[in-house]
Amino acid sequence: MSRGLDPSELHGLKCLNCRTLINYEVFRQAVGADWIEHKMAELAEGLAQELHKKDRVENQKKLDEQLHDCGVCLEQFLIGDMVTFDCNHRFCKACSDGNIRGQLGEGKYKV
Ligand SMILES: [Zn+2]
Ligand SMILES: [Zn+2]
Repeated sequence: MSRGLDPSELHGLKCLNCRTLINYEVFRQAVGADWIEHKMAELAEGLAQELHKKDRVENQKKLDEQLHDCGVCLEQFLIGDMVTFDCNHRFCKACSDGNIRGQLGEGKYKV
């Protein structure tokens, strides 16, 4: 039986650049809700409900049209295609996704 991912493990996830720990919401943006649901259904269920309430109203309006550099691949993206970390670093979804999954993978499978 898999017990899913412990929330404390989530809190070990870090920004790609500055190692600031990220929260679940950033994590969810980075890897995608579908992936979380698939991989960690139990955990996602509890936290996703919590997030649903305060979700997406705030940030949507202002930054929509601007381009931002991804801190990893240095290409430019619209804000909608990026993930903003708690430390205000931004990365494109591909870079965020890959890195966060990598961090999870390391934590999970390392002996
Ligand atoms: Zn950072
Ligand atoms: Zn990138």
